[in-house]
Amino acid sequence: MTETPTTPAMICLACDVALEPGKIEAAYLGQTFPVDLPRCPKCGFVYVSEELAAGRMLKVEQALEDK
Ligand SMILES: [Zn+2]
Repeated sequence: MTETPTTPAMICLACDVALEPGKIEAAYLGQTFPVDLPRCPKCGFVYVSEELAAGRMLKVEQALEDK
């Protein structure tokens, strides 16, 4: 049995290397904003969970409504 005692690192399935946090330019509704996301240092794959994407969109929508 192989159990990971700590939080398992996110791995790029294509390269089999650990993802590293990096600044990503995300775009939503024609606006771009920087986001810190796990990113593959080899192929540039960016991991965006559905949860995170939904949260981001909600925040952006709220910010737009405020202005
Ligand atoms: Zn990769």
